[in-house]
Order: sequence, then C-alpha cells, then structure tokens
Amino acid sequence: MKRMEQSTTRDAIQDFVIPARQGRAFEVSAGSIIRLTDLEGQQCVDIIAFNRHNFEERISPFSSISKAGKIYFTTGDQVVSDDLEALLTITSDDVGSHDMICGSCSPGMNRNRNNGLGAGKRTCHVNFVEQLRDYGIAPEDIPYSLNVFMNYPIDTDGLVSSASCKSGAGSAIEFRAEKDLLIAMSNCPQELTLLNGFNPTSSRIQVFPSQL
Ligand SMILES: [Zn+2]
Repeated sequence: MKRMEQSTTRDAIQDFVIPARQGRAFEVSAGSIIRLTDLEGQQCVDIIAFNRHNFEERISPFSSISKAGKIYFTTGDQVVSDDLEALLTITSDDVGSHDMICGSCSPGMNRNRNNGLGAGKRTCHVNFVEQLRDYGIAPEDIPYSLNVFMNYPIDTDGLVSSASCKSGAGSAIEFRAEKDLLIAMSNCPQELTLLNGFNPTSSRIQVFPSQL
C-alpha cells in the first residue's frame, strides 16, 4: 500500500501495547498521527473515536461509507461522524483490508453463534464499555466500530463470509486525528473463528505529535 506520511523516524509521545483480548482508551490532539501495529499477525482491532470536547460527535462507519461511496477503506480515506465531519484520515496502510459494516463482537453475539460456545467470553463491546466508563460514556452511546485488519469479503450476491485477517507480524496502519479525539481500541478476543487465526494477540499503539 502507498504511504502518505512517514512517522516512524519521529519520537512517539505515547507508546504502549494493548494485551491480547484487552482494550484501551486514550486521548490525542488534532493533527496527531496514530500508528497501530499488529505485533504477531492476524489480529483484528476494533476502533471507535469521539470528539474529545463533545462525545455526541463520534465515528459513524455507515456515514463514512455513504460519504466515500465505497465499503473498502485504505490510505487517503476518511472516517467521519453522522454529520460527515472528518474525525480520522488513514495516512498509511500496509494491509488494505478492513471492515466497516460488521461492528463489534458482543455478549449477545457470543451467545448466538458458534453454538453458544463463546458465551461468557470477553468481547470488544465489553472492552469499550469498561474503557469508556470513566469518561461517562454509556454502553448505548458506543458507536459501531471500524475493524482494522478484519477480513470480511463480500461476494457479488452480497454474501459476507468470515476469513482470517490479512495482517502479518509488524503490519501497521496510521491515522491522522482531524480533531482532538478520545479513541478506544479493542484487540478482538474472538478465538472460535478464523478471524484472529483462533489466537488473539497483542497490538502496539504509537502516537506522534501534530505536524500542524
Ligand atoms: Zn471483537
């Protein structure tokens, strides 16, 4: 994939690892570059983001699809709010395979698929609920997510099938924050499907300062 910006030579102002199956919320300033690296490969990461000063302004994958006129996003594409305000722009993408339509795994999803074998296991939605509780964001105010590295091919009849993430160890994607943001990410804990190669693993987050 083409690269619009090179951030790896600069010093990160935030640099942390999100453990397998866990989530993390963090704040960034407008213009910051957020680099997400799949450390071991085949790991889906769910991402949501809010305007840090107005939590009612949050990402909407569906509005993003509507504005962009496509469902497969990569370098140069923008994730917007319901009001089509740009919140994140993809500035670099090693993989080029991400999901915008399937949302986050949830307790209900775990109870109702794979013969209920996932019931009671951790989910991305629960990770978001836990990470955003201290910000006063209620579960019902958590938006649909952008699912980085998730591979959900759609065939010509509109059928969606689950496949393994295409990311390998060290695969990365970068976003530019278009506003001051509160971001939450979840390393998808799903271990009963191909998605994460039946082996949920960790991710690294680096935030580089604004170039504005
Ligand atoms: Zn998940």
